[in-house]
Amino acid sequence: MFSKIVETNLKFNGPLSTRAETRFIVVHHLGPMPSSMKPEDIGAAWIHQVHIERHWCGIGYHYVIKRDGVIERGRPKDALGAQCESHNHESIGINVVGDFNIMSPTPGQRVSLINLLADLCHSYNLMPGEETIVGHLDKESPGYTECPGLNLYKIMPDIREEVGKLLV
Ligand SMILES: [Zn+2]
Repeated sequence: MFSKIVETNLKFNGPLSTRAETRFIVVHHLGPMPSSMKPEDIGAAWIHQVHIERHWCGIGYHYVIKRDGVIERGRPKDALGAQCESHNHESIGINVVGDFNIMSPTPGQRVSLINLLADLCHSYNLMPGEETIVGHLDKESPGYTECPGLNLYKIMPDIREEVGKLLV
């Protein structure tokens, strides 16, 4: 294991289904940052609350990587997510906190993302590559979303390469 996951013990409104298969990992960003919160305080609990306010049963992502690089649990690993329309049954989702159209991932977030992706590739027997580590926008209709933001999307080839080096 390369990554350490901080448990959050979030309470979901209703039972979560189990995901049947995991064919790829979807990388997201938070997007526009709320003015009411310090960026470093945003984590799984805050996103969970926002998603409950949207009348979802709770956070849609499986992991959240905070600005300091701490990885927090969202939904249980094998639960069906609510993070990538039409692909929730076959994917697991990571949210990296930031608005990467105007910010960049912190060095800590970059390292944590690589480590977490390596563990998930190992766990689900995925070969790191363009088909298995995707940006959210790769799986939606063109123009539907800019997620995970330009400054994260453009380093995804490097991230896949680093994940591959860890799994040698
Ligand atoms: Zn997204």
